[in-house]
Amino acid sequence: MSQPHAAEERLRQRMLSVAQAMVAAGLNKGTSGNVGCRCGDYFLVTPSGRPVDEMQAAEMVALDFDGSPRTPGKPSSEWHFHRDILASRREINAVVHCHSPFATTLACLHREIPPFHYMIAMAGGDTIRCAPYALFGTEELSRHALAALTGRKACLLANHGMIALGRDLDDAFALAVEVETLCEQYWRALQVGEPHLLSAQQMREVLEKFKDYGRQAGDLSHNKIA
Ligand code: 13P
Ligand code: ZN
Repeated sequence: MSQPHAAEERLRQRMLSVAQAMVAAGLNKGTSGNVGCRCGDYFLVTPSGRPVDEMQAAEMVALDFDGSPRTPGKPSSEWHFHRDILASRREINAVVHCHSPFATTLACLHREIPPFHYMIAMAGGDTIRCAPYALFGTEELSRHALAALTGRKACLLANHGMIALGRDLDDAFALAVEVETLCEQYWRALQVGEPHLLSAQQMREVLEKFKDYGRQAGDLSHNKIA
């Protein structure tokens, strides 16, 4: 097996940092969740069933887009949705998946997140959808996730967790933190009453403003990992 080139080596280290940052941020515990990213004409995913505190950069598994492995090791059971998202969304280079508490709570209730807060637009639209339930690690789950991610950069997975996408690993991690924060805020608001929702027009204005401000307004670099 040939040695990974420098760009792949950097991505492996970054994936490990993101997997560790997800645990540190309370988005994942134990072996829950996974990370994937594009590497030229193939992709990398975290290994399956490995506690993050034991995971090594060398354990990231490289796969071709037809699903054939390029390196040894057991790829994340969710390699299908990592592959399918990266294959169908050219603007996306990184995918993170977590079982964070508030997103998962709402996903267990099969609730999509409505426009109760303007920051919902960070996920690309006026809702964050909840994909229907399917067994983890299946192509069916991948199909559901892809549909829920249409025109969006994040979705919930019913009775499971969430997925966040980004131009790069930092971007995807930052969005996962943001989505979890929004889910917590929505859950808290629901404890008190029925949150007031922004109108379609108000959300269009937010989406437009995010576009105009480009990276500045949409920049979540405050969530960037060290
Ligand atoms: P893996 O350890 O196989 O990545 O599975 C974790 C998970 O979250 C499955 O949905
Ligand atoms: Zn999962």
